[in-house]
Amino acid sequence: MLDVIIVGAGPAGLCAGMYAARFNLKALAIEKGLPGGELLNTEGIEDYPGFEYIRGIELAEKMEAHARKFGLEIINETVQGVKHRGDHFEVRTNKTTYRSLTVILTAGGTPVKLNVPGELEFAGRGVSYCAVCDGAFFRNQLITVVGGGDAAVEEAHFLTKYGSKIYVVHRRDKFRAQPILQERLLAEPKVEVIWNHVVDEIKGNGEVSHAVLRHTETGERRDLATSGLFIFIGFTPNTGVLEDHVEHDPSGYLITNDRMETTIPGLYAAGDVRVQLTRQITTAVGDATTAVVAAEKFIAKLKSTTSS
Ligand code: NAP
Repeated sequence: MLDVIIVGAGPAGLCAGMYAARFNLKALAIEKGLPGGELLNTEGIEDYPGFEYIRGIELAEKMEAHARKFGLEIINETVQGVKHRGDHFEVRTNKTTYRSLTVILTAGGTPVKLNVPGELEFAGRGVSYCAVCDGAFFRNQLITVVGGGDAAVEEAHFLTKYGSKIYVVHRRDKFRAQPILQERLLAEPKVEVIWNHVVDEIKGNGEVSHAVLRHTETGERRDLATSGLFIFIGFTPNTGVLEDHVEHDPSGYLITNDRMETTIPGLYAAGDVRVQLTRQITTAVGDATTAVVAAEKFIAKLKSTTSS
């Protein structure tokens, strides 16, 4: 029986793992891809204290090395189910089933889809959800970014190093992104923001050639020529592995108390899977720290009751 299983090894999972290992808990982190999560999709980070600028991949490697240094075991398996069995949890993967006294869910999120015709058909053939992964395919070509949050504005700026022109299509007349990110983007001569428009359809012949835009007020439609269409309209939390009912908000984000505990005792959530005002690396690692401290107390209490 393990003390804690950490599901997902992004910044929250790696931080939880580092703390758990330092607390001498019997911990296991399970990750279906490479450790690092969203860090691997981010070119550069300049809002993580201590690093004025660090590449996402480099911070991921540092976090992984840090956790492993204290003895965290990270395995490459896909978690398919997490079930509460009264006094413990069963975590089923594509290979086997693990048992633990607590679980910390740090599985992050999946990009929200536009759900318009052409999006699925052209995924990987012009449509992308990751500027770092796919930006270089559109060197000197027209690129369109959809969205108005931090991700859209930051990634549109990153894409200026590749595209001949970057259109940013946003459904309102102002961005919700942080002012500093907006200012930087709007200062780029290559950038043109198309306010009050949504994408109705993505068209092409084998590869994307244009997007059909619609004005949100007049309903007028027009074609926008583009080779790349990058969609950054938010994330859906990855909570589908939970087999028990866990309280969540209407968007599916898990509700926790200030100890990061969900409505199931011993099940904690940290980072992008839980309800919170903002989803930053700093908040993810903060959540993770709290979750491990709370889990450690929970485990100690459980062990003292069972041994007495
Ligand atoms: P977000 O903040 O939820 O923004 C989503 C954007 O997409 C909004 O502008 C929204 O428009 C738009 N949108 C949503 N659904 C749409 C649809 N169906 N069609 C067209 N537009 C749509 O998501 P995010 O930018 O992915 O950021 C997620 C979290 O990560 C945030 O908490 C953010 O702060 C954080 N983050 C931080 C950084 C950083 O600090 N450097 C970088 C990336 C992400 P409305 O504005 O009209 O709602």
